[in-house]
Amino acid sequence: MARTRHSFVVRGTERLSDHLIRVRLGGPGFAAFQPNGFTDAYVKLLFPESGGEVTRTYTVRSIDAEAEEIAIDFVYHGDEGVAGPWAAGARPGDTIDLFGPGGAYAPSSEADWHLLAGDESALPAIAAACAALPADAVGRVFVEIAGPADELTVERPAGVELSWIHRGAGAQGEALAAAVRAEPWRDGRVHVFIHGEAQAVMHELRPYIRKERGVPAEFASISGYWRRGRTEEGFRDWKRDLAERESVGSAAR
Ligand SMILES: Cc1cc2nc3c(=O)[nH]c(=O)nc-3n(C[C@H](O)[C@H](O)[C@H](O)COP(=O)(O)OP(=O)(O)OC[C@H]3O[C@@H](n4cnc5c(N)ncnc54)[C@H](O)[C@@H]3O)c2cc1C
Repeated sequence: MARTRHSFVVRGTERLSDHLIRVRLGGPGFAAFQPNGFTDAYVKLLFPESGGEVTRTYTVRSIDAEAEEIAIDFVYHGDEGVAGPWAAGARPGDTIDLFGPGGAYAPSSEADWHLLAGDESALPAIAAACAALPADAVGRVFVEIAGPADELTVERPAGVELSWIHRGAGAQGEALAAAVRAEPWRDGRVHVFIHGEAQAVMHELRPYIRKERGVPAEFASISGYWRRGRTEEGFRDWKRDLAERESVGSAAR
């Protein structure tokens, strides 16, 4: 992750769907911002808070070299939190600093097929991956959203089928996990990208992909992007606890 701090200026905002807000950022930081080629490229946004700063992690949905802008799509999940409400109130001329980009995944050309799944928070990274796939790519995409008002147009090859999973009154991630499990498994080498609410991703879907389907780690990008009931700081503690429990578990086996 590039640790250089970049200063950006809000150029414009757009409501993409019921819960997704796009913020276009340009200004002095753009010239030094180095794209890394990953479709899940992310930045750490810095927000002033009680005399200090808090960071929030967001995917770079797209980079427009001509306009000298990056676009970030924020889930508006209510008045709680820092980044969601900031995006909802952002106006041209507002400033924001960030570190990055980091990143780890881009669809592999060695894969026979691609499986991508996630919730609204992973939709920017999933959409960026779909846009980067070659025209003859084959794949299956599942995106869990609140309801029909959150569906978007996702540019993708003809052989990549996308299903919107409406959460309705169900628990976060429950319907997504069920849909991925119900999908008939295909032959050949798969490249998997699954991110979203951490409990659903790490406890429901990761064991299915890695253990039941035997997908090797280098072909499985799977992690939580946020945790229900926890701020990003609290989520970092949750991840550390999980990593510790897993290392104790594997040492005991
Ligand atoms: C690599 C990476 C890339 C990410 N990319 C994106 C992205 O492109 N767009 C995006 O919107 N998010 C993305 N996220 C998730 C984002 O960082 C978290 O959702 C973050 O917690 C939002 O910060 P906040 O200040 O709005 O809320 P916080 O202050 O962190 O949390 C406040 C409350 O809101 C809840 N909450 C947080 N996020 C959500 C959510 N998505 N839905 C419902 N409730 C929520 C928390 O559980 C908590 O109760 C990404 C995360 C990672 C690790």
